[in-house]
Amino acid sequence: MVRVRYAPSPTGTLHIGGARTALFNYLVARHFDGQFVLRVEDTDQSRQIPGSEQAMMHGLKSLGIEWDEGPDRNDGPYGPYRVSERLGQHRAMADRLLAEHKAYRCFCTPEQLAQDRENRAAQGLPPRYSGRCRTLTTQEVQARSGERFVVRLKVPSEGETVVHDLIRGDVRFDNRVFDDFVIMKPDYTPVYNFAVAIDDYDMRISHVIRGEEHLSNTPKQIFVFEALGLPIPQFAHLPMILAPDRSKVSKRHGATAVEEYRDQGILLPALANYLLLLGWSSPNGEEILTLSEAIATFTLDRVQHTAAIYDQKKLEWMNHQYMTRLSVHEIAQSVRPFIDYPLTEGPDFEAVVDLSRERAVNLVQLAEHMRFFYEAPSRYESKGVAKHFTDQTADLLDAVAKRLKTVTPWDHDHLVQVYDDTAAALNVKRAALIHPTRLAVTGRTVGPGLFELITLLGRDAVVERINTAQNLIRRHQIPTVD
Ligand code: GLU
Repeated sequence: MVRVRYAPSPTGTLHIGGARTALFNYLVARHFDGQFVLRVEDTDQSRQIPGSEQAMMHGLKSLGIEWDEGPDRNDGPYGPYRVSERLGQHRAMADRLLAEHKAYRCFCTPEQLAQDRENRAAQGLPPRYSGRCRTLTTQEVQARSGERFVVRLKVPSEGETVVHDLIRGDVRFDNRVFDDFVIMKPDYTPVYNFAVAIDDYDMRISHVIRGEEHLSNTPKQIFVFEALGLPIPQFAHLPMILAPDRSKVSKRHGATAVEEYRDQGILLPALANYLLLLGWSSPNGEEILTLSEAIATFTLDRVQHTAAIYDQKKLEWMNHQYMTRLSVHEIAQSVRPFIDYPLTEGPDFEAVVDLSRERAVNLVQLAEHMRFFYEAPSRYESKGVAKHFTDQTADLLDAVAKRLKTVTPWDHDHLVQVYDDTAAALNVKRAALIHPTRLAVTGRTVGPGLFELITLLGRDAVVERINTAQNLIRRHQIPTVD
């Protein structure tokens, strides 16, 4: 039975790294008909941000990631799913290790430990606990019962510990690099490496799938499993996500929280698809996969062990794929929150979305590209004005407008005919009419096909905008924008 978990610390919102980890866990669970557990690791109270747990759950759901057990449904068989609520279990396990002499109370003061570190540093040695309290007798410990203490785990000082990683193979650690590390703090609450092993066992987690930054923690967790005589889960450490220059990926590279991508006009199914490719590739090289297609093909053996590179351009490309492939209705729904102009008058909304979506990489751009359908331009692109709004153009536009007023029916083919006829009559190329018309009607030099867009915009708006532009040209009063 496959049981996996995503175990975020509630210290902010859901970022791409966490979202990728959650997604891969979710896909493994669904692919193998297993269970996906959401466990909130709220052990470090000082780093917690109120509302963070809700924000993370919301972020996961908006990506289509759903869990079978979690803190929002504490009725699961292995709850509670908030680590702070599991203290009794952690304390019981620490008590047990103390009773079995696999762990011990350490009374060393912070000053003593600092002194030890200094002494070792003076000899050029890395910090390491001296083992001073390891050999205290039961009587000595009892005699100090009122003193402040931590609990340290007895760690093997020889040999090696091997992490059998499903992605990177066997990773060997020399046991001499570890010391008897603290498992319970002075307030008798557990440190992460202790709690996580107990929780993973208690929740019957079969595969621990998490970011590579945790690989160095894994031997310590293995020591805990071994000391407690518990079975060790399988491990898979997902590759780091780096920027194209191989630095740590950050906001500067465009990487951000899931909610912010949404505000930037990225479609969340596109984001989920992009995350999927951060370290995984499909067997047939297909890059566009829905969640259910990913569930069908996702296995950990296709996860790479080299770093995944975060590339904002690729995300935009992915988003564009979704902008053009999803149904018009879906895109229309998604773009609505980005529209800040009234839609009361103007052409059919979905028709406008359909005509405009091909040229936009995100919903913010799409909303902007659609604006002219609902608002006459108040400024004209300066580069276009220099080229297409000359004195001569005013006459050309005038001639076009006169014919547009009467053409029937107002459809694509008849409009093409108007331009052909006008161009022939004036002895100019059709392009000499098309460019100024586009600029007059949309304020821009690029956009959807002119005949499609004026068909949709309708006679009144088109004629009115052409006349407005004509007047501005004649008065040499063209408001421009770069
Ligand atoms: N709470 C840890 C984190 O947010 C995850 C630890 C784990 O997956 O074992 O990085």
